[in-house]
Amino acid sequence: MISKILKLFLRKNSTKVLIHPSVDNNIFPILSGFSGGSLTCHCKSKPVTVRLSGQTAHNHVCGCSKCWKPKGASFSQVAVIGRDNVKITANESKLVVVDAEAAINRYACKDCGVHMYGRIHNEAHPFFGLDFVHTELSKQSGWAPAEFAAFVSSIIETGTNPENMPAIRERLLELGLEPYDCLSPDLMDAIAAHVAKKA
Ligand SMILES: [Zn+2]
Ligand SMILES: [Zn+2]
Repeated sequence: MISKILKLFLRKNSTKVLIHPSVDNNIFPILSGFSGGSLTCHCKSKPVTVRLSGQTAHNHVCGCSKCWKPKGASFSQVAVIGRDNVKITANESKLVVVDAEAAINRYACKDCGVHMYGRIHNEAHPFFGLDFVHTELSKQSGWAPAEFAAFVSSIIETGTNPENMPAIRERLLELGLEPYDCLSPDLMDAIAAHVAKKA
């Protein structure tokens, strides 16, 4: 009997797949009428703070190698918000652009490495006008939770064993985060519509 329980326990633990701290245990529901909050980097002294005045949209977990991930997480969690609703409120001088060549310029704290927001400077880009933010950096609750998983296969590029992918996709489905290997159909359609309009 004990060995049976032990076997069950071991099996349960060996299949424990971690995605991101904001979705692994419970996903907090959205608060209607939520009006935003402040993001704070991980520095103990002189943290960078960014005020988001409003709710975010299209929150998702992302497997790409560019988005900032908390320590130990295989995915980042990232959402968008209109750039006019993003305001740096403290220690702006600590922000540096991670890769100026990337379509999204990610502004990171040079001391702790946390990405405070990502901004697109190319006006022709389909997502121009939207900034990319990690609402887990906020103490407030009520943010829109993650809705799907993007660029799932890309986690292999940053070291995930391909053999673990079926369990990871299964876990994402269990969490209600449909796994995609690009963006969600809604966002892919928005990009294609933008391209068609320009052509
Ligand atoms: Zn910092
Ligand atoms: Zn990403």
